This record gives sequence, structure tokens and C-alpha cells, in this order.
Amino acid sequence: MSKFEEKVIAKIRSRAEVGKKKYGTTMEREDLSLIEWLTHLQEELMDAAVYVERLIEDTQCPIHGLAAEHFPNSLSSCPYCRRLRRGTETLKTD
Ligand SMILES: [Zn+2]
Repeated sequence: MSKFEEKVIAKIRSRAEVGKKKYGTTMEREDLSLIEWLTHLQEELMDAAVYVERLIEDTQCPIHGLAAEHFPNSLSSCPYCRRLRRGTETLKTD
């Protein structure tokens, strides 16, 4: 198993402990209906999609939309406006 699976396993164990302390229950709870489980899943997937969209935008010039992988230098400033992608926050003015 790779370090990535090991890290995910550790995080799942930690979340289970936090959930048990915070809500006093585990994933073995029997008080939710099928539709309530599916609704929880859908809400988590919608949150995940929003996080992915945010991170995709973080890789792009906010004006030209180019992904950082198309920027010619390693510091990832846009070749057209020299703006650095979001997260680096400084605007080059040369
Ligand atoms: Zn740009």
C-alpha cells in the first residue's frame, strides 16, 4: 500500500473519532432512512464539486483563463497580462 492510502486510512480513523465525540454516533447508526443517507451523500458530493471548481480557478489567470500549465515560466505568471494566478496575490507590473 502506498503512503497515500495510509494517509487516507489515518484520516478516516480520525474523522470517525471526531464524529463519535461530536454526534455521539457512528456509521453503524440505524436512525437514518435510505433517502436520508442518499441526501447526505449528495450534499457531500456537491460540496466536493464546489471545492474542485475553486481549485481549478486557482490554477488560472483570472482575466485570460489560462491554466498555469500553459504559463511559460515556473512562477506561473500569465504570458499576456503578467498576472500571477490566484493564491500568489501579487500583480506584476513590468
Ligand atoms: Zn492573464
